[in-house]
Amino acid sequence: MQQSQRTIIENVAVLSLDEHVGELGSATITIDGGRITSIEPTPVNPRTAPDHRAGDEVINGSGLLALPGFVDTHRHTWQSAIKHSYAELDPRVYFAEVLKGLGASYQAGDVYIGNKLGSYAALSAGTTTLFDWSHVQNSPEHSDGAIAGLRESGIRAVFGHGWPTSPDDSWTDKSLRPHPADIRRIQNEYFSQGSLDDRISLAMVVRGPEEAAPGIWHDELRLARELGLRVSVHTGAYARNANAAAVQQYADAGLLGPDMTFVHCNHLTDQELGLIADNGATVSLGIHCEMNSQGVGEIPFHRLLQAGIRPSLSGDTETKCTGDMFTQMRMLWAYHRSTLTRIGPERAAQAPTVTIRDILGYATIEGAKAIGQETDIGSLTPGKRADIQLIDTNALNLGPVQDPAASIVLAAHEGNVRHVLVGGKFVKRNGLLLGVNTEELMDEARRSQQSLLERAAKYKSMAGV
Ligand SMILES: [Zn+2]
Repeated sequence: MQQSQRTIIENVAVLSLDEHVGELGSATITIDGGRITSIEPTPVNPRTAPDHRAGDEVINGSGLLALPGFVDTHRHTWQSAIKHSYAELDPRVYFAEVLKGLGASYQAGDVYIGNKLGSYAALSAGTTTLFDWSHVQNSPEHSDGAIAGLRESGIRAVFGHGWPTSPDDSWTDKSLRPHPADIRRIQNEYFSQGSLDDRISLAMVVRGPEEAAPGIWHDELRLARELGLRVSVHTGAYARNANAAAVQQYADAGLLGPDMTFVHCNHLTDQELGLIADNGATVSLGIHCEMNSQGVGEIPFHRLLQAGIRPSLSGDTETKCTGDMFTQMRMLWAYHRSTLTRIGPERAAQAPTVTIRDILGYATIEGAKAIGQETDIGSLTPGKRADIQLIDTNALNLGPVQDPAASIVLAAHEGNVRHVLVGGKFVKRNGLLLGVNTEELMDEARRSQQSLLERAAKYKSMAGV
């Protein structure tokens, strides 16, 4: 019988995020068939040590720290080519322009390039799984472009199929338009048995009671469940949206379930957070964007923990923040610590306990749970897929490392990510992305950006922006 080629990473420090594997100062990780088959402390027990076989690829992991690839649970990847263009503007300008004029001017090729650029950038910064929250389904070709961009990069992704972006409010203000039926074609064409590699899966992103009329948001949920798809929905950001009491409405309709992820949640009541917890649903905090979005509301981090919810983290929109998960972790830790200072010692003593390792867990295993893939990814565990990032612990901003988790959360960045594997396959090696000419990629993105800005003017006037 022919044996598959294994990858063996020797003498590597491990921060597994798996309670049984734990944290190891030096270990050997064996990868076979795209999955982790063993993680053995060094010196490896000779009885369980993998015998080196001809064809094995052996990596010297000394000076490296292995941790699971990050899972970003909410990213508007299509906007990657217009990143950082809304930093100083009121969030209302983003909603009026990007989600109306500019978004409506997107062609399928722009979505493809945005998704390709965003996926490669995510991989370079240690994010191995991306939930692509794609509310730019202006035509079936736009959906095809989004999927093509994700696939080409080699990232693991969930394609979250949404609705079209249009110059009017017809899709997002008490909308009477049902979810685009093209999602059935997409499921048949790309996601039925054997039609696409196992790295990409399908989910549905919905408008919910904040944006769709009753009947319509009920039908969205029913359609998702008929198709067997998980659902993600923006909820409770900005006070005006909280009036819809979306979570309460889902619960009252008997539609709240563990297949739902609620994004932001700033203005949800404690009772609604309790409903999310009781129903086993999950939450995504786009912490950097939330902190940069004037008027979005207080970040509900402590209230989530008090309700028994461990959040996942997300990059949201790069138009006004960064998508990288190191920053999300660092911002959340700083937010937590500064909140304790702000509320004073008495209330701080009552606040939930949060550790540096909790923060790492939100960026990894909690993300995996929020997309329903925790048995497959989110920690370094024998049997799980080999989605691994290897960090250079001798980098001047990290070393000498005493507490690896603290070093990662406080100081690590994309430049420290030496290698990245998705399903056991290298996608970044020795600091360089594989399979892409990044200069050409940037030229492509620049052309898309330029042409979008020219086209957007027409749509902006239609939108009254
Ligand atoms: Zn969002």
